Amino acid sequence: MAQQSASQRLVEQQGRVLKLWQERMAPPRPDARPVLPMLEALTRALGARRSVQVTDAGHPLGRAQGALDGLKSVDVFQGIVLEVLEEEGALASDERALVLQSFHAFRLALAEAAQRREHALTEAVAKSEERYVVAVRAAGFTIWDWDLTERRIHWSYSVEAMLGHPVDALSSIGMWLEHVHPLDRERVGEGLRSAVEEGRTGWTDAFQFLKRDGSWAGVIGRAWIMHDHAGNAVRVVGGLVDVTEQRSLERKLAEQVQLTRTVAENATSGLFLLDGRGHATYLNPAASAITGYALEHLQGQPLHGRVHSHAALHRPAAVVRDQECTFTRRDGTQFVASCSAMPLAEYDLGGSVLEFRDVTELKRAELQLREAVQARDEFISIASHELRTPLTALQLQIQGMTRGPLAGGVDERVKKRLLGAERSVSRMVQLVNELLDVTRVEAGRLELEVEEVNLSELVRELVDRLQTEIRQAGSAVTVEAPERAMGRWDRRRLDQVIGNLLTNALKYGEGKPVRVRVEVDGEQVRLQVRDQGIGIAPSQHARIFARFERAVSSRHYGGFGVGLWIVHRVVEAMGGAIRLESAVGQGSTFEVTLPVSAPGAPR
Ligand code: ADP
Repeated sequence: MAQQSASQRLVEQQGRVLKLWQERMAPPRPDARPVLPMLEALTRALGARRSVQVTDAGHPLGRAQGALDGLKSVDVFQGIVLEVLEEEGALASDERALVLQSFHAFRLALAEAAQRREHALTEAVAKSEERYVVAVRAAGFTIWDWDLTERRIHWSYSVEAMLGHPVDALSSIGMWLEHVHPLDRERVGEGLRSAVEEGRTGWTDAFQFLKRDGSWAGVIGRAWIMHDHAGNAVRVVGGLVDVTEQRSLERKLAEQVQLTRTVAENATSGLFLLDGRGHATYLNPAASAITGYALEHLQGQPLHGRVHSHAALHRPAAVVRDQECTFTRRDGTQFVASCSAMPLAEYDLGGSVLEFRDVTELKRAELQLREAVQARDEFISIASHELRTPLTALQLQIQGMTRGPLAGGVDERVKKRLLGAERSVSRMVQLVNELLDVTRVEAGRLELEVEEVNLSELVRELVDRLQTEIRQAGSAVTVEAPERAMGRWDRRRLDQVIGNLLTNALKYGEGKPVRVRVEVDGEQVRLQVRDQGIGIAPSQHARIFARFERAVSSRHYGGFGVGLWIVHRVVEAMGGAIRLESAVGQGSTFEVTLPVSAPGAPR
């Protein structure tokens, strides 16, 4: 009978091979199923008269891996297969070679799988180690283990991450203590020593610990002390926690609190801190001094109803700014306060801070000032009215003598004096009119009579009219103006504006040339009056447009300081603007811009 092929024999003896494997494996395996795919792959390969391919070996091996114990068990399996195949005589040499090659493929696959597993494992370990170091660094925490019999301290690797010291650098208690700050060292050493010697189970302290880079870390040390059966301390396991950052935050917070306290204690305004119910939890010395209350007088009751009765200040989330309130002092008297309230929501307390100032005096002074200004305006109004009547009469009388029918009989020398007197009286009339204007403009009675006006013509007329003043001032006045600069304005008021600017230029122009320029620019007309006189410091620019404000002493230059104020009000009423360019000693340029049609003027 022809000898069966190796694969046929394996099919027949499959059960026996598996059984033998189960028995011979140490320890014996209850289940042969995991290695069955290997046996089947081998059978198929031999049937096809080839060996199991290295690339395919991994597949049948997949399930078997857990059941095989590495390469040794593959050897056992191979031994069993050969034994069963050669029971009835040696295998043909090519078949034997195929079997050996197949097992070689299994071995390779197994080794590869093992390698892969090892690699994955190393990687996982490395990762977890890395995570550990990062965690330690983040937590700022390290462990030391002091073996009292060996007299050695073992540190966890995290000591390097936290303090910079290599793991074996602080291996004796002496070295450990050397790194504690000199101010803490004795206390820490003594604390540890007594804890160990007196049979205690724990120790804790907070101190500064020297890092390798020379800086100090604020740490909290804690240790557990272990004892043998006889009660002797044998081991101390401790931890150090880095609290440098917390300490610095605590310090900053304390500084902030101190600063806030200093500000509150020294403020001149009164301050109340209120809780969510509106009860005072703090009041500063100023609040005490102003109201006569101390904290104990106000505890347990809302401020509202006792110190003030303003509902807006009582609402916890209210924001109140500079509101006028009436406060009641402890003795029952009252005062007017300016109050501000801010919620303290950030702290989630529902409370608020109330700041107040006693403004009774300020109010009284304000009232007095208002009354004084009113009295002054009334006086100016009455005085100018009263002065104008006799002055006008006087002016008429003089004019009668210089120009009327009587003029012919008047001696030339007297006439000359009379003309001088007339000029002075005109000046007085002008001043009185200016004052009257102030009261009129102030009372809001600046009514415009708008009509078609040629600004260029108005300027030329005015320069003609002011020839006497120009001569007296000694300034040459040039006019640069187009033939026509038309617009709808109040002629009389505009005349007043140009007149004021021009007389100022003559008055403060130090006899140097004065230039008046008119320009038409689309819907706008510009009037510029420029002198080369004393000039005005920029710090005074805004002020001189206010009523009765002057930038010169009245000893050197006469005037009421109302001209520019009136100019400003008139220009504004006509929808225009005024600009000043000047510096001390550099002359002044006043520039008025007007829309060609004053507001409210029919086109
Ligand atoms: P007054 O000339 O009567 O003092 P104004 O209101 O016309 O009043 O002017 C206010 C102030 O502005 C003047 O007192 C003067 O200090 C300053 N000022 C006005 N015009 C000029 C100018 N052209 N050059 C220098 N200073 C001027």
